[in-house]
Amino acid sequence: MEISVAIIGSGPAGFYAADALIKNADDAQIDIIERLPTPYGLIRGGVAPDHQTTKKVAIKFEKTALKDGLQYFGNIEVGRDVTLEELREIYDVVILAIGAPADRVLTIPGSDKIGVHGSAAFVGWYNGHPDFVELAPDLNVDAAVVIGNGNVALDIARVLVRSSSGRAKTDLPNYARGAMDASPIKDVYIMGRRGPIEAKFTNVELREMLDLTECAPIVDAADLPEFIPENVENRDRRLAKKNLYTLCAFSELDPGAKPKRAHFGFYAMPVEILGGERVEGIRFERTKLEDGHAIGTGEMMDIPCGLVVAAIGYRADPVPGLPYDEVKGIIPNDKGRIEKGLYAVGWIKRGPSGVISSSRPDGVEVVEHIAADFPNGGKKAGRTKLLELLNERAVRIVHFEDWKKLEAAEHHRAEQAQPRQKFTDIDAMMDHLEGK
Ligand SMILES: Cc1cc2nc3c(=O)[nH]c(=O)nc-3n(C[C@H](O)[C@H](O)[C@H](O)COP(=O)(O)OP(=O)(O)OC[C@H]3O[C@@H](n4cnc5c(N)ncnc54)[C@H](O)[C@@H]3O)c2cc1C
Repeated sequence: MEISVAIIGSGPAGFYAADALIKNADDAQIDIIERLPTPYGLIRGGVAPDHQTTKKVAIKFEKTALKDGLQYFGNIEVGRDVTLEELREIYDVVILAIGAPADRVLTIPGSDKIGVHGSAAFVGWYNGHPDFVELAPDLNVDAAVVIGNGNVALDIARVLVRSSSGRAKTDLPNYARGAMDASPIKDVYIMGRRGPIEAKFTNVELREMLDLTECAPIVDAADLPEFIPENVENRDRRLAKKNLYTLCAFSELDPGAKPKRAHFGFYAMPVEILGGERVEGIRFERTKLEDGHAIGTGEMMDIPCGLVVAAIGYRADPVPGLPYDEVKGIIPNDKGRIEKGLYAVGWIKRGPSGVISSSRPDGVEVVEHIAADFPNGGKKAGRTKLLELLNERAVRIVHFEDWKKLEAAEHHRAEQAQPRQKFTDIDAMMDHLEGK
């Protein structure tokens, strides 16, 4: 089917959609438009730097990027260099794959104090995302609290307490690795408002806490329920059972066996950040569960700390000209279809949950919508018009071969065991490409 398609965003959802189009629409002309010079979205900027195996999915996406019919337009931000309306005028189909990059904000008194960060910013900083390099969090503190009971909270805690030799094998940018290696942090608290059964940690990530050479995971056995209630569904029940088993193992460990500790705290709702200009602690109210909801009991407890990271979820930014679902933090859509010619995949479609491969079916679904909406293919020029527009505006396109040059330089600059030393500054990327 001859049709011109612009996919906005080069994260997993964008690449899965491209892949599905290539497989099902032979003559589709597919352009992936990405605001950063570097591709792969949260695979590069979210997935933990010590989870290099997970990042290897990018190898599959690279194969897609090199397929005939597909072009990568890096360094092109929709809304800055070209508008959504313009893309809709020049392409038959536009697919939004822009993710949900913003933090759900912690709204308790004191959350504006220095030393309180959202996970998107904190993770972006330690992953070298150009938007967050300036964050430079102060890690010269003894204790950190991570609010949240999902894998992002675990990632943050684990990276903070990992040994220096462990970090040397990651792709942490040197500035983040240096700050972490110099940090005196000995205690990290991972706090959830509900209990271990409700926690969203995957078991593999939870068990990984046992492998840390310098840190003992700790949990109070009194927080571990003796049985899983009948109303917990089968899938959740299996996860809860495995996690309980792992947490039981944590509860039997000697907290003094290793120099650092990761404390798992449950049934605790953050109510206030304590301190002056900077965070000095955080106050939690103990909770109990009623119908699965955490209800405050009035009993308070304070944890002294100099760093708070709120890993309480993500949301999409509204897109000018399109409706926005404030509650779900997504663009409203019907199974990926916004309207004829405009579709959504990945986190902007479903909201910020699920793993990388959860976005694969979204691509297949969108291809079905396109086939139904364009039974005779399309007629718009697409790429040639985009190139004309960008040329008129003198925008520097970073093509896929440019990205490969950047990547080669990142590998070349890596020290010893590091997989890569990332570019974290867009000007530096451009200078490298210009041979400066
Ligand atoms: C901290 C963290 C750790 C994670 N770890 C794992 C893990 O270990 N394993 C796992 O399976 N999953 C993990 N996930 C989940 C996984 O990353 C997501 O499921 C997946 O990245 C969502 O894909 P997406 O394409 O919808 O969004 P994204 O990956 O966010 O991609 C969106 C892309 O759109 C681009 N973009 C945004 N706006 C514009 C614009 N205006 N113009 C052009 N381009 C734009 C962005 O720059 C980005 O490249 C993690 C998520 C987070 C937040």
